[in-house]
Amino acid sequence: MKIFGYLFFYSYFFILTACRPVVQNGSKEHINHITSQVDDERLVRGDETPGDWITHGRNYSENRYSELQQIKSTNIDSLGLAWSLVLGSRRGVEATPLVVDGIMFLTGSWSIVYAVDCRKGTLIWTYDPEVPGKFGEKACCDVVNRGLAMYRGSVFVGTIDGRLISIDAATGVPQWEVVTADTSKYYSITGAPRVVDGKVVIGNGGAEYGVRGYVTAYDATSGEQIWRFYTVPGNPELPFENPAMEMAAKTWTGEWWKYGGGGTAWDAMAYDPELKLLYVGTGNGSPWVRKYRSPGGGDNLFLSSILALHVEDGQLAWYYQTTPGESWDYTATQHMILTELEIKEVSRKVLMQAPKNGFFYVLDRRTGELLSADPYVYVNWAQGVDLQSGRPLENEFSRYEKVNAMIAPNYEGGHNWHPMAYNPVTGLVYIPALDNGSVYGADPNWKSHESGFAVGNGWNAATGYDPDKPLVTDSLIKGPLPRGKLIAWDPIKKQQVWQIDHPTPWNAGVLTTASGLVFQGTTDGHFVAYDGENGEKLWDAFLNIGVIASPITYLVDGIQYVTIVAGWGGGVGQKMKFTDHIYPGTIFTYALGRKSPYPEYPKPQQKQLIELRTEATEKEIARGASLFTTYCALCHASIGSGGGNIPDLGYSSRETFQSFHKIVREGALLSLGMPNFGGRLSEQDVTLIRNYILATAEKVRKRNSSGDK
Ligand code: CA
Repeated sequence: MKIFGYLFFYSYFFILTACRPVVQNGSKEHINHITSQVDDERLVRGDETPGDWITHGRNYSENRYSELQQIKSTNIDSLGLAWSLVLGSRRGVEATPLVVDGIMFLTGSWSIVYAVDCRKGTLIWTYDPEVPGKFGEKACCDVVNRGLAMYRGSVFVGTIDGRLISIDAATGVPQWEVVTADTSKYYSITGAPRVVDGKVVIGNGGAEYGVRGYVTAYDATSGEQIWRFYTVPGNPELPFENPAMEMAAKTWTGEWWKYGGGGTAWDAMAYDPELKLLYVGTGNGSPWVRKYRSPGGGDNLFLSSILALHVEDGQLAWYYQTTPGESWDYTATQHMILTELEIKEVSRKVLMQAPKNGFFYVLDRRTGELLSADPYVYVNWAQGVDLQSGRPLENEFSRYEKVNAMIAPNYEGGHNWHPMAYNPVTGLVYIPALDNGSVYGADPNWKSHESGFAVGNGWNAATGYDPDKPLVTDSLIKGPLPRGKLIAWDPIKKQQVWQIDHPTPWNAGVLTTASGLVFQGTTDGHFVAYDGENGEKLWDAFLNIGVIASPITYLVDGIQYVTIVAGWGGGVGQKMKFTDHIYPGTIFTYALGRKSPYPEYPKPQQKQLIELRTEATEKEIARGASLFTTYCALCHASIGSGGGNIPDLGYSSRETFQSFHKIVREGALLSLGMPNFGGRLSEQDVTLIRNYILATAEKVRKRNSSGDK
């Protein structure tokens, strides 16, 4: 059957190719022709065209595994730079590009879309959705975007300000646009849409800011809304949207809808075209601490869950909740992979996920039955997962209600959004993982949208430390944290096979190939290939830019290429960096035997800590510190630490401090994403913050010059 499928498929292409007039590669006609062929049939059979990369995770199974094997361990020494293209922005780049017949489509920061000719390494078009700068503050974790969907001559992007836009792939001209979220609330889109069954599906983020999560399907041709599935129930006095919401509402108490509830579906999806089930991962509770959003307890469905939705109407087929009563920011929005595994001599259609909570889950994706759940990093919040009930066996201290507790993993997760990959040849899943842990407490003074680690509109977390409670520590959580590692995980034996310890945390997504290679970028600026069997490092290119995105591989005119888009930023990258400088986002493309020079960037000026005297008293400085924590510290690093892709304000120029009030209270830098705090901070507040920065810079400078660090 499969052979006939191939024959049919390739003869179909041959006829198309033979009949069409000769068009120049990279021309509008060429791009229109090749992208128009990306239809349901091709998307379903994504594995049969390994030369292209036409959907986010390479195929609907999202395994990020490529059949290509020209590049292999015996020739990888000659893998070199074919071309590079500087995108310009110094904000984070998290995108997985799409490629069809040598034409690449990708997203950069601020939801900007690029089309690139891979034959020449040149830009074909750019589409800027012109997201207003004021929406920058609604993205908790940088103005990033993780990618596009492609279908019948169009590419689709979700924007930071909550729009879904269809763009003509040949010209970069928008075709339709829908606003998918209430823009008065703190919704944002950073995830890649998927096209399934003729529908573009997109979720959103914002569970740290008091929103209610959902995922929506739009007709890919017209943009008309077909269905929407909310991930948590709304006000039960209003009609429930569907029976699933009525059922979910029984697992909540109090007035959760006033806080949004959370459960945002901000990243992972996968699709089984045979079962016609779309799998969606959901996020954390809003606020994080359950007793504040659902004071009588309860599982709080469908937080931190894997949902199987019928693709036709968006109705729930089944769900599996990884973390009932979520209280740790343990999202299950992490990457999901579909495959078949032989488990106890039975072939099972499975779904695999390594969510933030530290357990690697294998589910039967027809029914949602839990097949296994095993810790892939150090976990102390639960002793394990009961396979009968599917529920975690929580440790008593882990809810930090009577105590403050050191919990592993923490809110950054044992694994975050960085995509993993599954190689059916080695049988291993490669996970960009983290060792970490943090103290959790419940801020006794928390009020929704008022206090907490806030940006003025209510960072809806409510952690913080209650000093009157004892602290439960865990000697097995050892610093320095977080530590980045790459894990090879055997999903059948339910154990780790090998591990690479990275010198820096937060390393990038993964690609694996039929030749047994595993590619990964690192946050200290390397692009590395490993032997998938044993983790031996085979190849290493120094990019000088921290990498967080996933690489892809494809063929152009019969030659295999590997592309990685480097661009430092993201949640951690806003405040920290692991390279000497932050250079602009750049596409790097590699092939065997190529030796193109690396791009040269203008060297950033060496900045000095600001030297401006302040007459503020200690008390005023302390008040300024508190305001800084509430309003600035979500994005800006602590003074003197150096900062990430958002400046350390201690290194601001005299000119910046001269216009400090204009910037903070009048939105002078709004176009860069710096919020206008005019309605939230008084003149006097801003002076207090300014003086705190100046005083702290002075302190750090004195400490540095005395050599006492
Ligand atoms: Ca979160």
